[in-house]
Amino acid sequence: MFDEENIKQPEVMLSDCPVCGSKKTLEVKNITENIPYFGDILETSVYCTSCGYQESDNISLEQNDPSRYTLTISSDKLSTRVAKSQTATITIPELGIKVEPGPKSQGYVSNVEGILSRFEEAVIRAIKLEGDNIDVDVQENALNIIELITNIKMGELETLMILEDPFGNSVIDDEDATREILTSEEAALLKTGFMTIDQEED
Ligand SMILES: [Zn+2]
Repeated sequence: MFDEENIKQPEVMLSDCPVCGSKKTLEVKNITENIPYFGDILETSVYCTSCGYQESDNISLEQNDPSRYTLTISSDKLSTRVAKSQTATITIPELGIKVEPGPKSQGYVSNVEGILSRFEEAVIRAIKLEGDNIDVDVQENALNIIELITNIKMGELETLMILEDPFGNSVIDDEDATREILTSEEAALLKTGFMTIDQEED
C-alpha cells in the first residue's frame, strides 16, 4: 500500500478549505513514520494558506492481535511506561473511569502518573464546564474521583488499570502487567469512535 518513495517524503496535495471555503488553499500532507511501541504511523496534516486553519491526525498502519493489559497500580507504578494508541480504551473500574477513543484521539507514550493526571484534568474541565449549574451528585462524584487519584499517587490506594486496544498497538510496559489476547467478540465491543468519559453504573 505504501511504497518506499512515500516514506518520509510528504506529498502535498491542494484541496478546498472546509473553514474559509477558499479553493485549493488547503495543503494536505501525508507522512509515514515509525514510532517506538506503535510501529508505522500515518500522519496527516492540513494547513490553509488563506485562513491559517490547521489540523493533524495520526492513523496507525499496524494491526496486531487485539489485546488487553491489566496492571495493579499504586505509587510504586507511577513511572511505568504506557503507550496508548489512538484506538485504545483505558479503564480504571474502581474509579468508575473509562476513556474511549474518539475521532480526535491521539496516540501517546506516557506513564501511569501521566495518565492519572490526564484523568484528573478531564474531571476538572468537566466541573468547570458545568459551572454554577453543576448537579450536586455530579460534583461529589467528580471530587471523589480526584481524591481517589490523589490516594493512588500517595500510595494509599491500589487499583486496576486496564488498557484495551482492538488493534493491539498499546502497551503497559511493566513486568507485573498481564497481557491477554481478546476474543473477536470482546474486541468488537470496544469503541473506536467518540471520546467520552463514562461513569460506569454498578
Ligand atoms: Zn481556509
